Parts: sequence; structure tokens; C-alpha cells
Amino acid sequence: MVEYSSSSVSGSSLKHNFKMVCHYGVDSPLVTAWTDENPGRRFHDCGKDFVRRKCNFFRWYDPEVPDRQNKIIRGLLRKNDELKKKERSLVIVIGLLGIMLFMCVLLALGLAMK
Ligand SMILES: [Zn+2]
Repeated sequence: MVEYSSSSVSGSSLKHNFKMVCHYGVDSPLVTAWTDENPGRRFHDCGKDFVRRKCNFFRWYDPEVPDRQNKIIRGLLRKNDELKKKERSLVIVIGLLGIMLFMCVLLALGLAMK
């Protein structure tokens, strides 16, 4: 018996209480697609854990989204990635500045001791 895994089921899907089963008769989990064609669209997948033994069961859960909206979502995801990269480099810069400040303080203390 395969349970719904909480990681693949988002909050809003708690409302739907019917159970979809795949060709094996296994509970079919709701997973989210992150392809360019369907960013964020959820579908029912084979409930088997092992990729090789998965059947080809596949059924969309969310309705098809107009291409315009998919384009906007893709744009936002790309923007989000860029911001994350910028954030990471800023964290590195701040870390380096912190180290430099620490060394300056050590140097000043060393000079003050003389
Ligand atoms: Zn299956």
C-alpha cells in the first residue's frame, strides 16, 4: 500500500479526497511538472517507487493553462533563478568583506599593543 507522500502533494490538493490509482492499482500520487510546456502543472503519476517498474499511467490533474500564462510563469521562474544567483554572489561578497574587516581589527589591535 503506497501512501500519498506529503512532498508531492501541495496544500490545495487536500480538498480532493478521491483516490486515483494507476494501472498497477496503486494509489497514484499528485506530482508537479516543471517542464517548459507545463510549468507548475500537476498530474497523477504511477504510484510505484522504482522508475523501471513504473507503468505508463499519466493523467493531468490541473486544467491546461493558456500559453500566455505559461510564458509569464517561465519568465518569473527565470527571473527568480537570476535573483537567487545574485543573492548567492552577494552573500560571498559580504563574507569576504567580513573577513577583511576582521583582519583590519586584528591589525589595529596589533598596532595598538605596540
Ligand atoms: Zn503504475
